[in-house]
Amino acid sequence: MLDTDFFRRWLAAAATTIDREATRLTELDSAIGDADHGANMQRGFKAVTAALEKEPPATPGAVLMLAGRTLISTVGGASGPLYGTLLRRTGKALGDQDQVGREDLASALRAGVEAVAVLGGAAPGDKTMLDALTPAVEALGESFGAASAAADEGALATVPLQARKGRASYLGARSVGHQDPGATSSALILAALAETAAVSAGTAQDAAPGAAPDSDSEGGR
Ligand code: ADP
Ligand code: MG
Repeated sequence: MLDTDFFRRWLAAAATTIDREATRLTELDSAIGDADHGANMQRGFKAVTAALEKEPPATPGAVLMLAGRTLISTVGGASGPLYGTLLRRTGKALGDQDQVGREDLASALRAGVEAVAVLGGAAPGDKTMLDALTPAVEALGESFGAASAAADEGALATVPLQARKGRASYLGARSVGHQDPGATSSALILAALAETAAVSAGTAQDAAPGAAPDSDSEGGR
């Protein structure tokens, strides 16, 4: 089961990864956007880390809702409201449970991804973050590792697409041949989730030496 601390560690890991990859995200956005995606995400996740430390929320849902609100209020670009909506809606769907299972998270994230699609008016294939998020949510029913791999594949698959939403769509056919920045940051966030789950599973096994690896455990691939 995933507790409140797991969700805080996930977002902290995402903040670290985004910080490390900010230059790459901005380079991707300079090819088909306005070269601010790395800075936007860095600012947003730094604020998320600070907000979670200042007033640690009591439940997984509250962690995600606070993170979402923080992204909306600190990120000026299109990605702020979109990621903010993703996390807020996912958090809301988790309700006030103290612990949630991977399957619960998968269905809550599905609601979050649907809210992103409604807000942005985009669908998979439009060369946006949805190209990574949608397959990731489907694969999360299987395992955290599968979700992360699906997000990576989805982000890579945006390269040959022509953008139909967001700033990149202004470029028309010139958006072809570049990986979408938002799909790339989504893949980083899913990688942070898989990494956090793998660490948790490792810790659980350390705590119970000799325990048979449980293929249905949180870190199960
Ligand atoms: P901005 O485009 O305002 O500069 P960012 O550079 O931070 O904002 O984010 C750009 C990313 O946001 C894109 O790469 C894309 O993945 C995502 N995005 C933009 N518009 C939409 C939309 N309508 N629906 C879903 N995602 C979108
Ligand atoms: Mg931008």
